[in-house]
Amino acid sequence: MRYRDQRRSESAPPRPHFTPRKSMGQNFLQDEEIARWIGDQVQPDGADLVVEIGPGMGALTKHLVGRPKKLILIEKDSQLAPELQSQFEGRSDVEVIHNDATRINLRSWFKHGPLRIVGNLPYSVGSEILKHWLTPPSPVGCAVFMLQKEVCDRLAATSEDDAYGALSLLVQKDWNVEMLRVVPPEVFVPKPRVDSAIIRLTPRDPASLPVFDHVLFDRLVRMGFSQRRKQLKNLLPEAPGGWESLIETLGVTAMVRAEGLSLTQWIQIARHYEQRHEADAGQKASEMFDVVNERNEVVEQRTRGEVHQRGLLHRAVHIFVINKRGFIYLQQRSHLKDVSPLKWDSSAAGHLDAGEGYASAAVRELGEEVGIHVEATELVAEIPAGDNTDHEFVELHIARHDGPVHCLPEEVATGDWFKPEDISTWVDARPQDFAKGFVTCWKAWKEKSTREL
Ligand code: SAM
Repeated sequence: MRYRDQRRSESAPPRPHFTPRKSMGQNFLQDEEIARWIGDQVQPDGADLVVEIGPGMGALTKHLVGRPKKLILIEKDSQLAPELQSQFEGRSDVEVIHNDATRINLRSWFKHGPLRIVGNLPYSVGSEILKHWLTPPSPVGCAVFMLQKEVCDRLAATSEDDAYGALSLLVQKDWNVEMLRVVPPEVFVPKPRVDSAIIRLTPRDPASLPVFDHVLFDRLVRMGFSQRRKQLKNLLPEAPGGWESLIETLGVTAMVRAEGLSLTQWIQIARHYEQRHEADAGQKASEMFDVVNERNEVVEQRTRGEVHQRGLLHRAVHIFVINKRGFIYLQQRSHLKDVSPLKWDSSAAGHLDAGEGYASAAVRELGEEVGIHVEATELVAEIPAGDNTDHEFVELHIARHDGPVHCLPEEVATGDWFKPEDISTWVDARPQDFAKGFVTCWKAWKEKSTREL
C-alpha cells in the first residue's frame, strides 16, 4: 500500500494506493516521537473518553488506542473512514464516526462530561473546526490541536505580539491558550509549505474576568480590528459619555489602536458600552422572599440569605422555552449565582419576590435572565417543596419563542437549544451537571409528556 508521494518515510504504515487530497488538508504525520508526544498532551491514560478529529491513516491514533476507556475517531474522508472502521472492528473501546467534524451536532456530547479532544487538524478547515468545537457552550474540557504555526501564534498572542488580533481576543475570552511546540514541514507527507505548531486549549475560569456581554464584546472587537491602522475612536460607535470618558476608564491615549489594548481592556470597553460601572456583585442576600408553610401558604417574609441558610420553605418558578423545532433552551448558570453556580438549568428560573405570583414571576424571569419578552406563560406542573427542589414549591411553566435569546451575563454564563432526547440522556448520564430543581422539573415534564402521548 503506497502513497503516490514517494517522499513517504520508512516508518509509515503500509496502505493501499492513496492520493492525499489537498482539499481535505491531508498532510500525514510521519514522526513517531511527535505523534506520541501530541497524544500525551491530552492526558489520555484512564480518561473516560478521548475524541480524535481527522485520524487519517492513524499516525496519532496508534498512540491513543487502549489508553482511554473509549476513543472516538471522526474522519470525513470516504476512503479513510471505512478503512479505520474495518481496522477497529471488534474493538468496543474504539468508535469511528464517518462525518464532517464541522457539522457534527455537539449538543448530544455534553452527556460525556468535559471532553478531551485531539487532532492534527486539516489546514483547509482548521479554523472552522476550532469555531465549531470551541464556541460556547462547548462540551470540550481540553483540546490539543496541531495547526499552521501562524494560526497558533494568533490564537496564543497577547497585545505585545505581532500576531495579536481579533482571533486572539475572541478565543481567549473563553479559553486559556498554551503554545506547546513548533513542528517543521519535513515531518509530513506531503510536505506543507509552512511550519505547524501544537497548542492546548482549556476553558477559562469565568471568575478570572469581570462579567460582560459576549455578543457586544465580539461586535466591538471585530469593528476595532476591521482596519488595524486606524485609531480606535474612528472605528467604534459613539461611546456613552463620549470618547474621553472611555479613554479615561482605560488609562490610554486618545490615539490608541485596537492592537494596543489587552483582553482586560477590551472587556472594560464592552462594559463601558453596557454602562456597567459597578463591580460584579452577584445576588443580593438582602432581597426579600415570601416564606411559606407545608401547604404553600405565605407565613412571613425573610431575606434571601436567611431563607437559604436556614432552609426555609419558599417559592420558585422554572420556565422551559420551546422553539418551533421542539428544542428547549437550557442556560448554564453564572458563576456569580449563590446556589448551583455553573450548573445547567431551565431556560429561566428564579424565586418569587415578596408578594409576587408565579405567573408574573415567570414573565419577569424570562425577560431578566434571557431577554425573552412574552405576555404570558403556560403552567404545566406544580411540584411540592422537598430536598429535590432545594426547599422550594415550584411551578413549571412553558413559553414558545423562536427569536433571539439575550442572556444577562451576571445571571447566565451561556446557553443553547437542545433536543429533548439529548437532554434526557445527559440528565441520566450526568445529573451532577444540573441544578437540582431542574432535574426535578425535567422528570415532571417527561412524566407529563408521556401521559399525554
Ligand atoms: N491524524 C492524521 C495524521 O496526523 O497524520 C491525519 C492528519 S491530516 C492533517 C487531517 C485529517 O483530517 C485527514 O485525515 C482528513 O481526511 C481529515 N479531515 C479533513 N477535513 C475533515 C473534516 N471536516 N472532518 C473530519 N476530518 C476531516
